Amino acid sequence: MTADVYGIIGCPVGHSMSPEIHNLAFQDLLIDAVYHRFHVEKRDLEAAVKGIRALGIKGVNVTIPHKEDVIPFLDAIDETAARMGAVNTIVNEDGRLKGYNTDGQGYIESVLPYLDKELSEISCLIIGAGGAARGIYSAMAHAETGRVDLANRTPSRAYAILESCSAPVSSKVITLDQAQCSLTDYDLIIQTTSIGMSPKEQAKPISLAGIVPGTIVSDIIYNPVKTVFLQEAEKHGCRIVSGVGMFIYQAALSFRHWTGKMPDVKAMEAVVLQKLGGSKIC
Ligand code: NAP
Repeated sequence: MTADVYGIIGCPVGHSMSPEIHNLAFQDLLIDAVYHRFHVEKRDLEAAVKGIRALGIKGVNVTIPHKEDVIPFLDAIDETAARMGAVNTIVNEDGRLKGYNTDGQGYIESVLPYLDKELSEISCLIIGAGGAARGIYSAMAHAETGRVDLANRTPSRAYAILESCSAPVSSKVITLDQAQCSLTDYDLIIQTTSIGMSPKEQAKPISLAGIVPGTIVSDIIYNPVKTVFLQEAEKHGCRIVSGVGMFIYQAALSFRHWTGKMPDVKAMEAVVLQKLGGSKIC
């Protein structure tokens, strides 16, 4: 019998840790399958998607820069992916390719254990308005979070996110300077910009001076595991949540779309932390 094939398409894709965690989950659940990296240039995206059908590849993750561009080549997308305008998971249902997006829900799953209130009672601030922020905003809004504000260097991108979201949620757009002065308004602060990501690890989007100790501060960057932003939050007595959790849960939810089974997220997390040289920080 031939093992089922899964994989990730992106450009670049060589750094992706998805093969390690998905192959671990397949072994753990005794599923005869293998997960590969596929480097796909923008010009080859349509051909690559046709290849998924032609070769009978069972499912793929989609990463930068193809999450939006892949949509026209699919046969269907689910409601969440349509809302976000981006796909990170493709399921091959007997030759019919359907797109899903697990990024926003993956973030929510990763942070829920650290909240001591219902989402409906939480006031949160998202810093950044890129693709990841869009997914998190949409998921938080549809999960009926009490308040979700957005702060971004380029305010027009934040307004575009607010305007495209159909869920009724209390929201406003503020500048990064205003965010810095209103930290006490929030229970949860979510850093979604690429500032502080390896190799430019010393940068941070705003200062956290004046933040209330106990505020939950999360950074979706997972390399480094503890960003400078999280280090500062920790010094102020905040509870910190790294981006490893989001990475693991978005992967686990993709895995469930493909197999119907939820993998062991703790085992996946251990593999990622070992590879990144980090330790559990949240
Ligand atoms: P993106 O679409 O390129 O958005 C980048 C964001 O960062 C924008 O808000 C951008 O602001 C802001 N930014 C970049 N450089 C800046 C600077 N010098 N000053 C101020 N703002 C700056 O990227 P993305 O896909 O949303 O990803 C963002 C980060 O999330 C990346 O580090 C990525 O690795 C991480 N991520 C993690 C996970 C996970 O599973 N943990 C999943 C997805 C993404 P402007 O709009 O003003 O340009």
